[in-house]
Amino acid sequence: MGRMRGICSFCGRNFTGFPNKRFLCSRCLAQWQNEYIMLAREKLRAKRAGLLSTLTLEQWMQTLAFFSGKCAYCLERPYQAMEHFIPLRLGGGTTFDNCIPACKQCNSLKQGLHPNAVTSIPKQDIERVYEFLQSLKTRVNIS
Ligand SMILES: [Zn+2]
Ligand SMILES: [Zn+2]
Repeated sequence: MGRMRGICSFCGRNFTGFPNKRFLCSRCLAQWQNEYIMLAREKLRAKRAGLLSTLTLEQWMQTLAFFSGKCAYCLERPYQAMEHFIPLRLGGGTTFDNCIPACKQCNSLKQGLHPNAVTSIPKQDIERVYEFLQSLKTRVNIS
């Protein structure tokens, strides 16, 4: 396959490179390749459970950017896992309004519980994340 010119679908800059499915420049491709793989895995998990599996890489990138690559709960440690706010086993899908970045510590503190049942993460952090996810819904409805 030859190199081709185009505009990166994420950062918007012109680049010349090998074509890839999402048309990302090499910089973005390298930065987000792990995201891409993890997203595919999480979408498959939701799909297998018969749940919504509609989160796109672009949406996930926007969420990561919003939290500056940090955990959505503690806002301190770098994120290490995609967290389902409503767990898959409780019917939450892999969707833009249910997935957030979490560090391993907060992820295990949440214990796969429904947000209302979580006691080991401060209530205000749970509520803040809830508000964030709600705000995404509103934004999508407007545009
Ligand atoms: Zn790019
Ligand atoms: Zn955390």
